[in-house]
Amino acid sequence: MIIVLFGPPGSGKGTQAKRLVVQSGKPQLSTGDMLRTAISKGTKTGLEAKTFMDKGSLVPDSVVVELIRERIQESDCKKGFTLDGFPRTLPQAESLDLMLKSQSRQVGYAVLFDIQDAELVKRLSGRRTCLKCGAMFHLESAKPKRDGFCDQCDSFLVQRDDDRPDVIQKRLEVYHKQTSPLVEFYKKQNKLKTLDASLPQDLVFTKLVEVTSK
Ligand code: AMP
Repeated sequence: MIIVLFGPPGSGKGTQAKRLVVQSGKPQLSTGDMLRTAISKGTKTGLEAKTFMDKGSLVPDSVVVELIRERIQESDCKKGFTLDGFPRTLPQAESLDLMLKSQSRQVGYAVLFDIQDAELVKRLSGRRTCLKCGAMFHLESAKPKRDGFCDQCDSFLVQRDDDRPDVIQKRLEVYHKQTSPLVEFYKKQNKLKTLDASLPQDLVFTKLVEVTSK
């Protein structure tokens, strides 16, 4: 089964995708994580992507489509995978369909994480991420045991450059303009499932498993 998770930044799709990996044994393909890895390695793709990401803009379609094209050919993707943060534009969704068609496969479900902008601003501005292992915390709702340090690997927690208030606003605008048309795209294909992403994390996960296992 190939599942697409999409929704605005901060809607919890990354967290839920990681839980789905544990539950299903299938890999999570996050273009955001892939790009951040490329940045930390200083690759050409990483350097190009950083200029867009720091502003809250989307990285060009051709860059992310190529990352996904290569990744889905790896052997661990044979049994299915969960896409987290890809596709984010109509051209990306169309490219994905074509790539999968060439492997005689298709998207099973596209799950929309539905949530109000005001709640997202609260979530994103308090978010802190571990520099080393990527674990996420929140200054109000998921505090680390030791202030400023990761519970899992004791490394420094930082605020992602794109979680700064001015950039958050821009990312939300980008979402409404460029990503929300995917709702109609997947509705037309009869693949859309909508989750209330403002519910507590465990409940969202229960519902996610429910809608994706039918
Ligand atoms: P995320 O971690 O999914 O919130 O992604 C962080 C940033 O990476 C986004 O704000 C974009 O700049 C970039 N990015 C991630 N996935 C994509 C994508 N599918 N298309 C374009 N840009 C992306």
